[in-house]
Amino acid sequence: MREKAKPFNVKVAVRVRPILPHDRDPRPVVRVDRESAKPSVTVVDPDKEFPGLKQNIDYLRVDYIRERSYEFDHVYGPTQPTDTVFQEAVEPLIGPVLDGQNVTIFAYGQTGSGKTHTMLGHRGDRGVIQMALAKLFNEQKEHTRVTVSFVELYNEEIHDLLIDEERRYGNHNGVGGLDLREDPIKGPCIAGVTEMPASDVETVMALLRAGNERRTQEPTSANDTSSRSHAVLQLAIESSEKPETQHRGRRVKIKRSSKLSMIDLAGSERAAETKNSGARLQEGARINRSLLALGNVINALRRGAQKGGKSYVNFRDSKLTRLLKDSLGGNCRTLMLAHCSPTTLSFEETLNTLKYANRAR
Ligand code: ADP
Ligand code: MG
Repeated sequence: MREKAKPFNVKVAVRVRPILPHDRDPRPVVRVDRESAKPSVTVVDPDKEFPGLKQNIDYLRVDYIRERSYEFDHVYGPTQPTDTVFQEAVEPLIGPVLDGQNVTIFAYGQTGSGKTHTMLGHRGDRGVIQMALAKLFNEQKEHTRVTVSFVELYNEEIHDLLIDEERRYGNHNGVGGLDLREDPIKGPCIAGVTEMPASDVETVMALLRAGNERRTQEPTSANDTSSRSHAVLQLAIESSEKPETQHRGRRVKIKRSSKLSMIDLAGSERAAETKNSGARLQEGARINRSLLALGNVINALRRGAQKGGKSYVNFRDSKLTRLLKDSLGGNCRTLMLAHCSPTTLSFEETLNTLKYANRAR
């Protein structure tokens, strides 16, 4: 019997942020096409667009550049608001979460490209997390229980963002990281992590805001932890549905449980450094193993789906992929929201981001 091809439920969206006053070189090199049948993002040759630029700017250590286009499931340019990102890419995933599927949403991109803007919003603008929570709580069935955890993955250590600092970095197990364990029923579990019950958007947003404050310790320095760590918000949704159904003459409650994970990833500039220097750069202190492992896992899942389910997927290479083992592949749905800065100074990083995103789809 031929094996049925496994579904490959990974969608990739790319968002290019507007040029902002703080951008040092306000010349755009990224073009977004939403209108054609295949939405695409194009990086133009900055030297062709702005003759002489390559000689003037040493940031562009690129020998050979030409225009490159990549197609994605969704693309968003400087004029599309976060609402559009939500409606097209995120909203279709909320029904499946309530129906018991695990859903994971990643924000990927270099520091300053707009990951947090999309996920959490900015000042009055809501982010997709808030919009997703609103829909989730609005549409949840009667007997649904939602619990929230919020952790930071930093240097392959897991830190609880829902508790105060002394307890977080204190004596959990010496050096301050929480253990990741594998429960045969519940899947990957973080030992001792805070799980707060929540039933409305504001409760979760307050937890997130407080947690994010704990996360960002040196916002202006080059050591800004928020650009080097992954912020992982997980909602566990459990429902026992009525009416009770009959099973072998007995009345049973249908129990459903699922997870919605929303992750603001570390700045991808570190991942690019490793890629540029080959596998040997393993010893480099700034490598972000998780981003590489995540790309590899998604790629292996895709190849597995193409080959009818026959492919080895290695989740063990990083804490992030181990934590998400039951939330990627199989019956799960994944959305990667890749972010790009639009100007010439980000040319190389933007190409790297588009390549990473392209490899995922
Ligand atoms: P990241 O989290 O990827 O490091 P941020 O989300 O902090 O980047 O974005 C960097 C800056 O750009 C912030 O001031 C943010 O408000 C702004 N920004 C990002 N995306 C947008 C957007 N789509 N529209 C307007 N401003 C944006
Ligand atoms: Mg950020």
